[in-house]
Amino acid sequence: MPVNELIRAGVIGWPVGHSLSPRLHGFWLRQYGIHGTYEPIALEPERLKEGLLQLAEAGYAGCNLTLPHKELALSLMDTLDPLAESVGAVNTVIIRDGKFYGSNTDIEGFIRNLTSNGIALSGQALVLGAGGAARAVCAGLSLQGMRVIVANRTREKAELLAADLNIESCAWETVPDHFAETSLLVNATLLGMKGHPPLHVNLDGLPQEATVTDIVYSPLITPLLQDARDRGHKIVDGLGMLLYQARPGFAAWFGVEPEVTDELRAHVLAGLYA
Ligand code: NAP
Repeated sequence: MPVNELIRAGVIGWPVGHSLSPRLHGFWLRQYGIHGTYEPIALEPERLKEGLLQLAEAGYAGCNLTLPHKELALSLMDTLDPLAESVGAVNTVIIRDGKFYGSNTDIEGFIRNLTSNGIALSGQALVLGAGGAARAVCAGLSLQGMRVIVANRTREKAELLAADLNIESCAWETVPDHFAETSLLVNATLLGMKGHPPLHVNLDGLPQEATVTDIVYSPLITPLLQDARDRGHKIVDGLGMLLYQARPGFAAWFGVEPEVTDELRAHVLAGLYA
């Protein structure tokens, strides 16, 4: 590629205005002095295929996908990363020679957020939620060798996820029964997110050394994390997952391995409260 050719990428969503990804990638583009753009692209689900083809024609290096496109994109990829296939969702697309390569970087994002905060991933993880994000969380923890138990309001979805990933499931009502053996508790539901009710779970019985993490990052400190912190648990908020999941795409499109720094975090956080 000629040295000064503009490299283009973006995020496709519906809606997409709330996405923090343009702010995140924009920070890195400026930091590394790259001649590139990263734009929000609003596209209805039924227009995803057409939209991806248009990006390829326009010479885009690739894109991220956010709700509701992550699952829809599976069948549109020419090559699918095996992890994305097992999770059943694509959040990062690389376009090369008109072909689409899909991967799921939420898995790496979730794990890196924990390890970069010094959390040892061993023992038992209890994951609440069985939606798209929970699937990535469970896959990541299982790959790390943890025993993973998933619980979901709709039990069948937890059972399906458990069967797909070869992990265990339990009934939503019995979650506290599993606390004694738990070293990591994860909220992967949307409860606690701005505009949604909080997650009500009594943390009595969770070992003091257990870590509590939430993948919801708006607000940054969810009621669950606040409760856990008040009880003396180590907590990890969900913003780091968003930052780390963005790295592989940026590296592939723009050719620089970007760093997750305090400055980046502060910049993205400012967008959250803007
Ligand atoms: P999703 O596929 O729609 O799944 C939503 C989950 O929340 C399901 O397990 C659902 O249970 C559960 N839920 C909804 N209302 C509930 C209620 N009243 N009581 C109990 N459970 C309830 O959404 P998703 O894509 O997995 O996203 C989940 C959250 O993760 C969102 O807040 C999203 O912003 C966040 N997220 C963060 C990152 C990050 O980088 N930090 C990445 C991806 C997603 P049912 O199956 O019973 O409906």
